[in-house]
Amino acid sequence: MHCPFCTAKDTKVIDSRLVSSGHQVRRRRECIECHERFTTFEGAELVMPRVIKQDGSREPFNEDKLVNGLARALEKRPVSTEQIDEVIHEIKSKIRATGEREVPSHLIGECIMEALKKLDKVAYVRFASVYRSFEDIREFGEEIARLGD
Ligand SMILES: [Zn+2]
Repeated sequence: MHCPFCTAKDTKVIDSRLVSSGHQVRRRRECIECHERFTTFEGAELVMPRVIKQDGSREPFNEDKLVNGLARALEKRPVSTEQIDEVIHEIKSKIRATGEREVPSHLIGECIMEALKKLDKVAYVRFASVYRSFEDIREFGEEIARLGD
């Protein structure tokens, strides 16, 4: 690829390793002309189903939305970037595994809740309380009580 600093046409790979449990390759590159170094991440781009929103409209799957939702729930929680990458991969795999060309938006919400439940209970409760907008305090209490099991 071209150098992002001087736009020279050739750069060389000086280091290459697997990251996020092998779902990505991280490469350190060096420009042959200006010798600046930079990093690239390579991962497979797989087609995600479209999302059916509650009003029946359709939109393309938006990974940023997923990432931002997780980031909000996991704010200041003891969870590594690597673990978050892993969860994103897991959620996307599960959605793709439906084999559907379109999936309802609540399915994505449920996948996120399921993943967070395993990863971090506080993040799960945060996400669930916003996502499900619990009908009343009693319902919310029951959900928390279930977590204790
Ligand atoms: Zn350069």
